[in-house]
Amino acid sequence: MNPRADRPNTYGNASPAVIVRHLEEFMADNLDAILQPRSVAVIGASRKPGRLGWEIVHNLLEYGFNGTIYPINPSSRHVHSIRAWPSIEDVEDPIDLAVLVVPRDQVLPQVEACARKGVRGLLIISAGFREVGDEGRELEEKITHIARKHGMRVVGPNCMGVINADPNVRLDASFAETQPIPGSTAFASQSGAVGEVILSHAHNKGLGISQFVSLGNKADVSGNDLLEWWCEDPNTRVVLLYLESFGNPRNFVRIAREITRGRGKPILAVKSGRTRQGAAAASSHTGSLAGGDQATTTLFEACGVTRCNTVEQLFDLAAAFSSQPLPVGNRMAVLTNAGGPGIMATDSLVHFGLEMAELSEQTTAALRGALPPEASVRNPVDMIASAGAAGYRACTELLLADPNVDALVVLFVSPVIIDATAVADAIVEGVRLGIERAGIAKPVLSCIMGAHARDGTGIALLRDAGIPNYAFPETAAHAMSAMVKFRAWRDRPLGDERVFQVDRRRVAEIIERTRASGRSWVGATDAFSILDAYGIPVVAARQVQTPEQAHAFAEEVGYPVVLKLDRDDLVHKSDIGGVQVDLRSEREIKGAFWEVTERLEQAGLKNNGPPRFQVQKMVTGGQESIIGAVDDPVFGHMLMFGLGGVFVELMKDVVFQVHPITDEDARRMIHGIKGLPLLQGYRGSAPADMARLQDVLLRVNQLVGDFPEISEMDLNPFLVLPEGGFAVDVRVRLRRSAI
Ligand code: ADP
Ligand code: MG
Repeated sequence: MNPRADRPNTYGNASPAVIVRHLEEFMADNLDAILQPRSVAVIGASRKPGRLGWEIVHNLLEYGFNGTIYPINPSSRHVHSIRAWPSIEDVEDPIDLAVLVVPRDQVLPQVEACARKGVRGLLIISAGFREVGDEGRELEEKITHIARKHGMRVVGPNCMGVINADPNVRLDASFAETQPIPGSTAFASQSGAVGEVILSHAHNKGLGISQFVSLGNKADVSGNDLLEWWCEDPNTRVVLLYLESFGNPRNFVRIAREITRGRGKPILAVKSGRTRQGAAAASSHTGSLAGGDQATTTLFEACGVTRCNTVEQLFDLAAAFSSQPLPVGNRMAVLTNAGGPGIMATDSLVHFGLEMAELSEQTTAALRGALPPEASVRNPVDMIASAGAAGYRACTELLLADPNVDALVVLFVSPVIIDATAVADAIVEGVRLGIERAGIAKPVLSCIMGAHARDGTGIALLRDAGIPNYAFPETAAHAMSAMVKFRAWRDRPLGDERVFQVDRRRVAEIIERTRASGRSWVGATDAFSILDAYGIPVVAARQVQTPEQAHAFAEEVGYPVVLKLDRDDLVHKSDIGGVQVDLRSEREIKGAFWEVTERLEQAGLKNNGPPRFQVQKMVTGGQESIIGAVDDPVFGHMLMFGLGGVFVELMKDVVFQVHPITDEDARRMIHGIKGLPLLQGYRGSAPADMARLQDVLLRVNQLVGDFPEISEMDLNPFLVLPEGGFAVDVRVRLRRSAI
């Protein structure tokens, strides 16, 4: 980043490509004007303490801004003992950032004044815009328009400010009451109120902040813009997000991946608010399962973002991520002076999918030597209540030095007789020695419990040494598991995208034809044909009207066959008896025809003309799976895999991934379901053809990529055999309007 480069803001006859490139560079760099300005004007600076216009100037001064401050106030010559200017245009020096704290109706004229002045960034604290209705929205759009035209980036409106704790910058352009401690955690909050809570919480927990941005209405600068900035920012090691909505989920995935994988910086996020649209409009299985909060979870998983349910959790995890190295494996050691907490910690660690380390013989022997005979030298190592500082020092060192241990949780329930501060000191020392002996960094989380320890000196001592303390073992275990997961995400291969030879034209024709007929569901025969065009094996089938035609088909492909209604308005044909399986003779076919027709009448379903039927070859010995895709209104296409039948309906045992997926993603999806053992050959049954499942998922992935107008589709079931498999029921739905 080069914050100071002069860039043109008029382009004369330059080609569009040149303009776009310039604008892109300009836009990215321009966040510098907001996050590391050299000069800040406060429009609406006030002399009255308690007013926002006073608080902002106060915070800028108090935090020791490393630049020049220009209070703008038409009626005072000075604010906060520094000279004030009547208007921003009266300031002779260049202004990087203008903070606007004026009443709503003055914002637009002030933005225009900033444009004339050549200000580079705006921070609009004032509220009363998009959040209050249409009139406010229009005003906000006007402001954004002017800002874009003049190359000014805008944070807000309706926000609580921006902080950059970098010692070279020291910008606190906020009205937050707490002064942040400088550190390596960046924070973006969409909610101002939450932002305030967060800052004070961070302060209390001693968590250091690199930057804090309250996004407000996101008229211009979005969470994604900040992620881009933090990707490059050397001061930021951990990114925290409090989100209410996603601007552009695709970009989010791209940038977040670069941050988590490319730069190894964890992103922790709380996402509040749920997207229900997806579920409401859906009428396939994939569609209905994708609704609710699933999309957010899927999106976060696709880019290694650690999702937190509460702000509290966000901080618990941030404390670990920002201070500890990532564990190289999942083998945990627990050290305690009381049995109960040791068991609690062990249970939680195991619950979160971590393993208890098998201590080496050497470690066990050394522990035996260091501890009284009543102590337990197996993991969790229980030193018993008499353990003091010396015991903690020795055991911490021994456990960390053990090559079988990847990470350590140290518990201490403080008995009155033992000095908690001395124990904390001993832990710090033991950690230092242990890691030195191990030769690699290992994470350590502590959990000092009990009233006696509450005076906090021990905890503060640990924190100063970079060891976060947790109130309960479960919380420490959760933080540890989040680190292990993040490490695994960072290290695992992303896999490759696959491109198959397919018959695109055939699908295009079917889609065009279906649309021309005014339908959104593709008819059964066409839906099978679409799969076939994309190389997905489909069961031999034919549309028929009479038992004779069905019999002729059966003679060709062989019995048994399946007769089903060919209707696209039923999610489940079988619910009304519209699927008759295992038909073994002409007589049975006739019976099935009669049965289905009868059932159709009973169900009171109207027909345009005579009922249509499909006859299929019966697939035997297959395992039912469901493979689908759905276009979420916000998140775009997502792919789904699960086991069919009751597994999908009752257990909702399905896995989602955002489109596009790689071969590795497909493999992980298949291996991600709870019912995996059923595919791997359960109780003597032959294992299913996993390679084929993977192949079909990837082909569906390509299909919805090639035809984004497919709004939802599923193969339910795809019957997978020990070798190969067949789709026997397919639903494909198209978005109505052309895109
Ligand atoms: P729907 O889902 O509309 O009720 P399906 O076509 O999926 O109808 O059929 C219902 C069930 O019947 C399937 O889940 C599967 O168990 C079985 N079935 C359908 N067609 C076949 C077939 N060709 N071979 C074997 N089983 C089939
Ligand atoms: Mg079905």
